[in-house]
Amino acid sequence: MLCRRDEGTKISIKIDDILSTINGLLDDISVNLYNKVKQKMYSHYFKIDDYNEFEKKIDGNFILSPFCCDKDCETKFCLDMKQICNIKSLCIPFEQTEIENKKCINCDKKALKYVIFSKSY
Ligand SMILES: [Zn+2]
Repeated sequence: MLCRRDEGTKISIKIDDILSTINGLLDDISVNLYNKVKQKMYSHYFKIDDYNEFEKKIDGNFILSPFCCDKDCETKFCLDMKQICNIKSLCIPFEQTEIENKKCINCDKKALKYVIFSKSY
């Protein structure tokens, strides 16, 4: 009897088939867990260009926003957001689409990159 903790199911197999079954099962479990985590992550991932919308969504989510990449702006942004929650910049994704003509989420400077922000714990 094999138990899949990712699905909470049990599978009855013959002992002679255990190696061939487990190899395929482990691949299936790995893909299943990856897809569940990916789905959960993207359900909390938003692309937001507006400061007020950012304030509404930042708690508990990942927010992709245009940013000027200025250290002082980031410091001020994080301090201003403390009234809602502590935030931090997580990373700058390699794929940068539609960044031209965007303004920083926090100031009026031209945005250089889309940056992912989230709550800091
Ligand atoms: Zn800025």
